[in-house]
Amino acid sequence: MADKVKDPVCGMEIRPEDAAAHEEHEGQTFYFCSEGCHKAFLKDPHRFGHPSHESSGHMHH
Ligand SMILES: [Zn+2]
Repeated sequence: MADKVKDPVCGMEIRPEDAAAHEEHEGQTFYFCSEGCHKAFLKDPHRFGHPSHESSGHMHH
């Protein structure tokens, strides 16, 4: 019943309650499978928070 979320760093699908860490970035909450992914995200949130080459979900166009 819990929605799965994607760890933006490694791409793994996890449940929010199983996440090792989470982080809010520009109004969005991201969940991470491990502290390592969390730290990688914090180092460069724009790289992970704004995927520009995703083929899914072309809302604008
Ligand atoms: Zn991860």
